[in-house]
Amino acid sequence: MIFGAHTSTTGGVDKAIIRGRELGCDCIQIFVKNNMRWFGTPYSQSELQSWKEESAKHNPQVIFAHAGYLINLASPPEGNREKSIQSLKQELEFCAQLELPFLVLHPGAHLKQGEEEGIKNVIKALNEVFDSLPSGPRVALEITAGQGTCLGYKLEHLTEIMEKVEKPERLGICLDTAHLFGAGFDIRLPEVWDGVLTKLNQLVGLNNLLGVHLNDSKAELGSHVDRHDHIGKGKIGVEAFAYIVNDSRLKDIPGCLETPKSKDFHEDRDNLKILRELVR
Ligand SMILES: [Zn+2]
Ligand SMILES: [Zn+2]
Repeated sequence: MIFGAHTSTTGGVDKAIIRGRELGCDCIQIFVKNNMRWFGTPYSQSELQSWKEESAKHNPQVIFAHAGYLINLASPPEGNREKSIQSLKQELEFCAQLELPFLVLHPGAHLKQGEEEGIKNVIKALNEVFDSLPSGPRVALEITAGQGTCLGYKLEHLTEIMEKVEKPERLGICLDTAHLFGAGFDIRLPEVWDGVLTKLNQLVGLNNLLGVHLNDSKAELGSHVDRHDHIGKGKIGVEAFAYIVNDSRLKDIPGCLETPKSKDFHEDRDNLKILRELVR
């Protein structure tokens, strides 16, 4: 796997690359705008120029983005549907400017309309987004812990969207170990982990797996709670990560930490060291 961490863009988007490089990340994930706002200010020419210069150094080798948290494509029309579509479009445009290959997105929350209705809304919204942006980065639908009415805690939610959307080539999948665990997949058992990848392969093909978030979980198995912990410090435990990072099916796939961090990011260094030491 290509190991790395989510890195902060504080002080300018190019700073995320510099931080990632300092931490020894081979991949980084970023937010392309404030993740708690609907819309961001477009990048200035000088910001894009510095980004270009930093990213041309090819270290970290893979850079991708995670979408903002307000976007809910499962929302009914009377809710935040239109804003969500416009916000996602802006993020994809920003990703395109930064030449990122994909943007990780949570499928959304159905807000008590029911899962079927929610999934229909997601498909319609994605069709609209891809119609208005004929080319650009892919959207990697992320597995979720299934908090509240959030969709995406089953592989089938993600793969149904992929199968029914008009342009499936614009989509991909992102797994998250903590979300899988919260959703009820006991990945402490190698056969359960193996089952997840086998099923994903049968449903859409592992060539559509674009990234994996490597997080331990503070939350219990099947709790539907999304709380990340340091590798080996949570309920999943280091043994599971030992076979996950050595799974040959994940070769060349970015494995990105989204674990808690303090100002000096030393936790990212520690977690990366643990992951790398597990590689056989
Ligand atoms: Zn996520
Ligand atoms: Zn994640």
